[in-house]
This record gives sequence, structure tokens and C-alpha cells, in this order.
Amino acid sequence: MTKSILYINGDGVGPELMASARSVIDELVDVEWVEGHAGYATFKQQGTPLPQATIDSARACDSVLFCAVTTPPNIPNYKSAIITLRQELDLYANLRPFDSLPNVSVPAWASGGLQQPPSASPLHFAIVRENTEGLYSSIEESDGQRATALRVITRHASERIVKFAFDYAKARKFSRVTLVHKANVLRKTDGLFLEAGREIAKSYARAGISCDDAIVDSVAMRLVKSPQDFQVIATTNLFGDILSDEASALIGGLGVAPSANIGEKHSLFEPVHGSAPDIAGRGIANPTGMLRSAAMMLERIGCKKEAVRLEKAIARAYEQRIVTKDVGGSASTAQMVEAIRANL
Ligand code: ATP
Repeated sequence: MTKSILYINGDGVGPELMASARSVIDELVDVEWVEGHAGYATFKQQGTPLPQATIDSARACDSVLFCAVTTPPNIPNYKSAIITLRQELDLYANLRPFDSLPNVSVPAWASGGLQQPPSASPLHFAIVRENTEGLYSSIEESDGQRATALRVITRHASERIVKFAFDYAKARKFSRVTLVHKANVLRKTDGLFLEAGREIAKSYARAGISCDDAIVDSVAMRLVKSPQDFQVIATTNLFGDILSDEASALIGGLGVAPSANIGEKHSLFEPVHGSAPDIAGRGIANPTGMLRSAAMMLERIGCKKEAVRLEKAIARAYEQRIVTKDVGGSASTAQMVEAIRANL
């Protein structure tokens, strides 16, 4: 049966990258595209960054493909469309896989150029981040002299995110999940996350998946020094946000990293990068993060073979060095997308 996909262009590079993704998906599968609006441009037109109609369509469609939205800093009570969507659809798990691409220089290992040192083994790990609470609970106060933000950690959300991480590890044949926290200082909140996580881990020991834990600051260092140490990281909202941007630098930067937001009923796929207003409309945005997110979506809606074809076609473009400037090439977005389509 044809699947329905809500696509949300968003702002900045959003419309150009979404058009590329749709054209590539149309080569692979028949989907029914439903347009949804969200973001700053939508706010300017409709007075809200996330119209109710978009939320309703997201609930009705089989999945959501989202590019990126701009969140303006100076508008009081402006709430980011993507954060609201994650909450409305209860997309509690944010999954970000990090897989090396051919011929991409890695800043931590090489100072420039296209070539990764031959000795460096390809990276293959994932960060699973809790998506609904933590420091992004939106409970903040300020009297102008003193400001506070409430960091909410619940047993329920901790258990389900760690369970998600273990199920992902099992499905992808990883053998270890690392719980990342700061429980030595945040004794109550991260203490609860860790306790809940360790309890969940017990039931996966029989499946051969082990569990360890690590302090977030040491993980930030180890990600640069020895990223091969990690398989699946499970962590709370803010830590996961920061570590995943850091990790994207290890595989070529923000332009190449995909992500999935998964809930019990709904799913939404988006590149890790933002709306990149500095390069919008110039035809130079890297389409990789967007297309890899599309591949993750295809797998989720039952088109695994097509997802693999797309992943391979993207990797082939890197082998051919038909890639954008941010990863050391000279191709435009359109030229890179054309190469990927030809590689399908
Ligand atoms: P936002 O406010 O939407 O988060 P931002 O510019 O603060 O936007 P990003 O959009 O993530 O944050 O961009 C950070 C940097 O990475 C920018 O210099 C941008 O040009 C670059 N960048 C982001 N996405 C891409 C991409 N797809 N291709 C190339 N460069 C990108």
C-alpha cells in the first residue's frame, strides 16, 4: 500500500534540500506526498510557527520528513516548531547514527584535503538521546537578576530511552550500550537515569549486549581521541544534543549527519543540521544529511531494500568525489544529487 509522507520544507536551506530528497525518493518508491508548513516563514505568514493543521497531518501520515527551521532569538514566547512537534507526537527517542563516508577528511585526524589517513578505521556508532525532557523541558524563570531552568528526569522516560537504545543495538548487531551521564554531580537527576538504565540493561545481558557507563565530559574527550570506543550511547536530552554535534565532525560535519525521531506511534526524520541561513539559496548545501535521513525513513516505512540502495548511491558519490565544498569537493547541491540519482 502506498505510504503517505508529510514533508515540511522549513526555512533556509530547507526547501532546496527537501526538493532534492523528494526527487530521489520518487525514483525509488511510490509515496503520497502531503505538504505541511512549519518554521519562521510560516510564523510570518500565519502567526504561528506550527499550525494545528501540520500537527494533524503529522498524526495522520505514515511518517514525516522534515528539513530544518529557523528559531528567531528575539521573539518572546516563540517556541521552536521542531521541539513542539517532538512533544506533540511524543517522539521520545532521537537516534543519530554516525557512519564514515569514503574520502572525507576528519578534522581530528587530518588537517585538510579530501583524504582520510588509510590507518583510520571507518566509524560506525550511534547516539540515542532522550527527546522530551531533561534541560529542554521548557520550564525556565528569570527575574532579571537570577534565572533558573528545571531539569526534569523521570524513571519512565529514562527506562524507555535506554530500552530503545538496547533494542537498536540488538537489531544492528552492536554488543554494548554506554549510558552517558553526570551522576557524580547531578546525583538525583542523573542518579535516577543511571539507576533506571542499569535495571533495563539486565534483561539484555542474555542477548549478549553489555552495558557500561561514562561521565559526559570524559565522553566528549574520548569521542575526539578514540571514537572507535563507542557502539551505542544512550543519554539525556542536552548531553545528547551536544555530543551528537561533536560526533558529526568525526564523519564530515553537520552536512552529512542524519537523524530519526521515533515514538510509539509516529516518526519524523530530519538532518542534524539547522536551516543554515548563511548558505541558503546558493546551491552549495550538502544534501547528504537530508538524504541519509530519507533512507532511514524508507527503512522505517518498510522499504529496506530501497534504503540500502540510497545509502550505497550516496557512498558512491563520495567515492567518485562528486561532493560539496564542506566535505572537500567542488560540486553544487544539484550536481551531487544528480550523481546520487545516477548511482541508484
Ligand atoms: P539554525 O539557526 O537553523 O540552527 P545555524 O546556522 O545556527 O542555523 P546550522 O544550520 O546547523 O546552524 O549551521 C551551522 C553551520 O554549518 C553553518 O555555517 C552552516 O552553513 C553549516 N551547515 C549546516 N548545514 C549544512 C549543509 N547541509 N551543508 C553545508 N554546510 C552546512
